[in-house]
Amino acid sequence: MEYKFETKTIHAGVEPDPSTGAIMTPIFQTSTYVQDGPGGHKGYEYSRTHNPTRAALEKSLAFLENGKYGLCFGSGMAAIDTLMKVLKPGDEVVSVNDLYGGTYRLFTKVYENYGIKFHFVNVSDLAELRGAVNNRTKLIWVETPTNPLLKITDIKSVVSIAKERGILVAVDNTFATPYNQTPLDLGADIVMHSMTKYICGHSDVVMGCLVVKDDALAEQLYFLQNSAGAVPGPQDCFLALRGIKTLHLRMQRHNENGKAMAQFLKSHPTVGDVYWPGFEDHEGHEVASSQMRGFGGMISFNLRSGKHEDAVRILKNTHLFACAESLGGVESLIGHPASMTHASIPKEEREKNGITDTLIRLSVGVEHIDDLINDLANAMN
Ligand SMILES: *Cc1c(COP(=O)(O)O)cnc(C)c1O
Repeated sequence: MEYKFETKTIHAGVEPDPSTGAIMTPIFQTSTYVQDGPGGHKGYEYSRTHNPTRAALEKSLAFLENGKYGLCFGSGMAAIDTLMKVLKPGDEVVSVNDLYGGTYRLFTKVYENYGIKFHFVNVSDLAELRGAVNNRTKLIWVETPTNPLLKITDIKSVVSIAKERGILVAVDNTFATPYNQTPLDLGADIVMHSMTKYICGHSDVVMGCLVVKDDALAEQLYFLQNSAGAVPGPQDCFLALRGIKTLHLRMQRHNENGKAMAQFLKSHPTVGDVYWPGFEDHEGHEVASSQMRGFGGMISFNLRSGKHEDAVRILKNTHLFACAESLGGVESLIGHPASMTHASIPKEEREKNGITDTLIRLSVGVEHIDDLINDLANAMN
């Protein structure tokens, strides 16, 4: 029986505890498991390898992404790091050029040292993607929508180019969540999440995951997960399981509030460009409409004045929107990419990529939309 998403968030992967009937998966705060005799264990030997709280969470994530296997890690970066270990020196990776800064750093500052070559291209331009792929390419890395400009990549088209050449396609689905987008259904091989953001949703856990369908790939990743050992603890897994139970409710509200906020910004006289994939004039709107079920609560916008200090003044004067890095929690956040998340990129390079000094990024939370709009309106006046 295939349940709807809303039902899966409540039930998938979670069974009452067989020893007590506890409806919530207990926090199995244990490192080891007693065996009847050598080798006489009940499926659990050591908690780096398996832990029942983590196992319930991994199963739940596999269901939500319409995959077969889920693997959790101590952070989103640890999830990506583990996936990269599938590669060998001489292998090449083609990646979107507009990607999460931490991922870019891991690729260029860590894995380039191990003889892996990266090509950063505008993946929405399929000719450019084809040009970057060769017989050493083993992986295409996609992030859609991207941070902070909400650019959209057509997952199906990327998959069609990769499949004819036996290249793996991985999608960072952090911004969309499986409520809005399920890349495995579009042919991708691997879905990655920073669960720190929408999946956990309460700004209280750092965690990551990979979800796959293929048996052999899953076996290889489980081997690496156990060998490298970047696994999350059972307490955090419990919090993630708890967060998932309201993922559909939160995302529904994030989508609604995101839309209302984007419309408010677009009509505001001091606001220039507004980046939100739900707008018909957003360059990725058509693709977004075909592969996403909602457009989310992430929005970026520029100020018409072009003055850095105007952006700073807005960030200092909101009360509900907290000035902080990260995103995807129930509370609204406001950020200034040029001086926060993207400060390490030289100004010229930044501006070339559309990250101007007045670009402001919002993670619209699940508060009442009137209060959120008033908060921003007051800060802008
Ligand atoms: C935060 C984030 C990451 C990194 O995840 P951590 O949990 O912080 O390690 C990767 N990709 C995207 C899109 C993110 O927003």
